[in-house]
Amino acid sequence: MAGKITRKTPAKQAKRSGPESALKKRARTQRIVALLRENDPDAVCALWHENPLQLLIATILSAQCTDERVNTVTPVLFERYPQAKDLAAADLEDIEQIIRPTGFFRNKAKSIKGAATVLAEKYNGVVPQTLEELVELPGVGRKTANVVLGVAYEIASGVVVDTHVTRLSNRLGLVEGENAVQIEQKLILLLPKEDWIAFSHLLITHGRQVCKAIRPRCEICFLNKLCPSAFKVQPKPRVPKATRRKAR
Ligand code: SF4
Repeated sequence: MAGKITRKTPAKQAKRSGPESALKKRARTQRIVALLRENDPDAVCALWHENPLQLLIATILSAQCTDERVNTVTPVLFERYPQAKDLAAADLEDIEQIIRPTGFFRNKAKSIKGAATVLAEKYNGVVPQTLEELVELPGVGRKTANVVLGVAYEIASGVVVDTHVTRLSNRLGLVEGENAVQIEQKLILLLPKEDWIAFSHLLITHGRQVCKAIRPRCEICFLNKLCPSAFKVQPKPRVPKATRRKAR
């Protein structure tokens, strides 16, 4: 008598095979990176800048703000205050007025003036090249330091973890949770060092174009066969702008 044919559903298969091994996850991550690269070989940092100081300031301004909006204010700021010593001597209110569209402008202006003052006094206006020195500057955390080192100096000090990297790494099943430091540590273990800098640019670009926060476009996503969240993310209802402003 012929044996009974049973069909394995993906859920049953997952149960049977158990959690993904570290080795398999590393291999899947590298496949994801290869596909992202293939589809967007030119993914780069979208913050407009011409030198490490400008990138540092632009990255401080990018907190809770889109890169496009940051790019609308930085040309004015950098033209008026080209060097660290100029920003250090600037009137705080003038910096505030220029950067106002980026939000949280009072805190950001203080950070910019504070960081520029340390750079002018301690580093002769030159942005240092170590994570330890960078995170000592006012308003500069690990994320900003990693951006500056990776993009301006091509030093792979870590993996930049912003909202896009957090969202996509979770959806792709590479990490769990929202803690940026823990996400970075996990990603570092999954990625070869030569991919640390590019990985963030690739994920950020994919997050903007395809794997959007509110409604990911899984139907056109070239990663959908490697992604455990494919076609499973519930689209979030859009929050009206007026409500968003009130919530701040
Ligand atoms: S398949 Fe969907 S959830 Fe997964 S990375 Fe692509 S767009 Fe995002």
